[in-house]
Amino acid sequence: MEMKKNDHIHCSVTQCKHNMGTENYCCLNSITIGTHEPNPTVPECTDCFSFVKRSCCE
Ligand code: SF4
Repeated sequence: MEMKKNDHIHCSVTQCKHNMGTENYCCLNSITIGTHEPNPTVPECTDCFSFVKRSCCE
């Protein structure tokens, strides 16, 4: 399936299979964001729950 960048979702996590790789964009139509903290206070407290680890051959 061809990846199409979503101009509205900037992302630099190139280890994710949904990342464009050469450009810092996500290719999903929408993503789910959450937190692993009981009381988030800084950006580092948040996570992209749509992350999927890129395999070696993608
Ligand atoms: S799914 Fe999340 S981590 Fe993966 S490229 Fe999209 S925004 Fe980035």
